[in-house]
Amino acid sequence: MNSFLQKKVVKTVAPALSALRLPRLFEPLYGGLGHVLTFHRVVPDQEKPRIHNHQTLEITPEHLERTIRFFQKKGYAFYSPDELCERFAACSFKEKFVVFTFDDGYRDNLTAAYPILKKHSIPFTIYVTTCFPDRTAVLWWYILENLLLEKDQVEFQWAGKHYSFACHTQPEKEKAFDAIRRFITRSFLLENHVDMYRAVFGDFQPDLHAPVAELALSWAEIRELGNDPLVTIGAHTVNHFPLKQLEKEALHTEIFDSKKIIEARTGLPVWHFAYPFGKAAEASWREFETVRSLGFKTAATTRMGNIFAAHRNNLECLPRISINRVTDGAVLELQTSGMLPCLVHKGRRAVTH
Ligand SMILES: [Zn+2]
Repeated sequence: MNSFLQKKVVKTVAPALSALRLPRLFEPLYGGLGHVLTFHRVVPDQEKPRIHNHQTLEITPEHLERTIRFFQKKGYAFYSPDELCERFAACSFKEKFVVFTFDDGYRDNLTAAYPILKKHSIPFTIYVTTCFPDRTAVLWWYILENLLLEKDQVEFQWAGKHYSFACHTQPEKEKAFDAIRRFITRSFLLENHVDMYRAVFGDFQPDLHAPVAELALSWAEIRELGNDPLVTIGAHTVNHFPLKQLEKEALHTEIFDSKKIIEARTGLPVWHFAYPFGKAAEASWREFETVRSLGFKTAATTRMGNIFAAHRNNLECLPRISINRVTDGAVLELQTSGMLPCLVHKGRRAVTH
């Protein structure tokens, strides 16, 4: 079952579990002290067709408002990562808390999310991948989506092999998206990965860097955001590689250079970090130790989980709750109550490694 289908299943069963009040039974043991939320993009719904499995990390402004109200109604405090550290240092958590974080550095964090968060005085963090504002990133996932939406058949040659994908219908397009995504993510640490992009996208997208210029924050915009006391700018590596696959030196460079580049371009100190992808296959002990040795105060994974007192000694691997198109209403309750993390982690409470 792919992740889109898993999300659909969770969305289907969550209201029934909520009606049975099951999440509330988990709350005292598994709800924890609070939560760190992961967002990516905030995009108004458009009329144009989409590849659904690609769209899950985009939520609407209304969804962001509902998420804020969910926590406001329950009386949560909204913390920045610095405040979270202070609370841990003082062992003082008077009320439950939530920390809002955005990964990668998309421009809609400024144009769509910021006005809403500002209106409610919600502190938030943007973890910037520096190749986004440096405009050297290839946002191949958007190029791929546009390619599949436009074509009925996609064919390319790579490393002596011919690849062919039918994409006449929406299900075929979804399937082709998953298959080509797997192909690209297997190849993007190759020295000649730009040649690979050219082989896949050919004449369809001659300027591979056009999407990043359109969709990602510029350095001027990051500076503008970072100068607001509500906003924390964190690091998210230089190239968004799966860190576990890198040699030790390259790992150090990816993390340390992203901190230094952001500090140099914004004049702001960078104390917080998020691991690209962030699952166990992409970040583990070696990566956590590297981040700790570089002096970051906190670092966030994408392991699903709530925050517990035990995280005081594990601030370099804080689990998060991903807010995607499905994490709304009953599903958000399933996550924050700890019921879903408990089931996923087989009863383990404080998720770290
Ligand atoms: Zn990311």
